[in-house]
Amino acid sequence: MSDPKRVAIIGAGMAGLTLARALAGHATVRIFEKSKGIGGRMATRRIEDVSFDHGAQYFTVRDPRFRDMLDAAAADGAVERWNRDIVLLPAAQKNVHRADNTRYVGKPGMNALPKWMARDCDITFNAEMSSISGTPGNWTVMTEAGEHGPFDWIVATAPAPQSAALLPPAFAHHAALHTTGMNACFTLMMTLHPGAATPFAAARLDDPVINWISRNDTKPGRDDAPCLVVNAGPEWSDRHVEAPLESLRAQMLEAVRLYIPLETAEAESAVIKRWRYANVARPAGQPFLLDREQQLASCGDWCIAGRVEAAFQSASQLADALLPALRETTP
Ligand SMILES: Cc1cc2nc3c(=O)[nH]c(=O)nc-3n(C[C@H](O)[C@H](O)[C@H](O)COP(=O)(O)OP(=O)(O)OC[C@H]3O[C@@H](n4cnc5c(N)ncnc54)[C@H](O)[C@@H]3O)c2cc1C
Repeated sequence: MSDPKRVAIIGAGMAGLTLARALAGHATVRIFEKSKGIGGRMATRRIEDVSFDHGAQYFTVRDPRFRDMLDAAAADGAVERWNRDIVLLPAAQKNVHRADNTRYVGKPGMNALPKWMARDCDITFNAEMSSISGTPGNWTVMTEAGEHGPFDWIVATAPAPQSAALLPPAFAHHAALHTTGMNACFTLMMTLHPGAATPFAAARLDDPVINWISRNDTKPGRDDAPCLVVNAGPEWSDRHVEAPLESLRAQMLEAVRLYIPLETAEAESAVIKRWRYANVARPAGQPFLLDREQQLASCGDWCIAGRVEAAFQSASQLADALLPALRETTP
């Protein structure tokens, strides 16, 4: 029997972790993650003892494999339903909760699910991969700490433009990576005064600047002061992606005030975050990109749609296609 194949995965978000779990036991898998934490856009940040889900707000479930995993995570307390209604504004307040659209969140923060998934994974943090060199079956990768490898296979799960910059020119699917479109998003996180009442737990907004406001503390397991997460809309975010953050913060606060009165201290607490690649405007239109000859692949939400479940599906389907190749013995 030959040695297990060595696989390097770029990114410890939903796609990277799903793939690592699916390949476990069939290959030696190592994840390289540029940030210091797990989850990618399934992100939770603490600001002065208040936690904010400043990436994905919730997720929905239709795929049976995703449901099986969530059931296991829920049994361990890492996932729970978020039962609060979402209203549409400024239209007459209309409840958009639908029976087939149950919403779930990580508990106590959105990143609890990726943390749960990562328990048995080999992850190197603060490891931004800057280049990939070598030949199929003998790839090495470069991070600030130096060279790592060799690896038989490399899979990039970073957002499409970042994966395109990393994968060697020989990768057969650069055209698909380049036609994929992603939107930016600016997110505001702000703490309200104790006992603050808001007219809704979450709202989708038809507004030129912002498209989402939620009371993050209404999600299960958040033991936090009242707090808001606000997202800017994709067109506005794309138009202002390089603008100074302070001016964008002020414009977003002005927009929030149309829906929720803010005290000075509340507005002053607002912290803005820029996501350069947040949502998927134009998906690749194929569930994953696999180059068997070069032994390179790529997957992520951007293959299918800008949703947590789509990232899971993309990586699961890539794993299905990759497993037979990993079992092949080296000549
Ligand atoms: C503001 C916002 C709101 C959202 N709301 C929702 C929602 O309500 N519901 C929903 O279903 N989805 C939502 N999404 C989308 C959802 O978060 C994504 O679909 C999903 O998390 C994508 O997972 P992924 O693994 O494909 O990518 P990512 O989570 O982006 O993971 C990629 C990982 O690769 C790492 N990486 C990148 N480059 C390198 C490199 N060179 N070297 C090493 N590591 C690297 C990144 O740090 C990251 O951890 C939202 C996203 C944002 C930003």
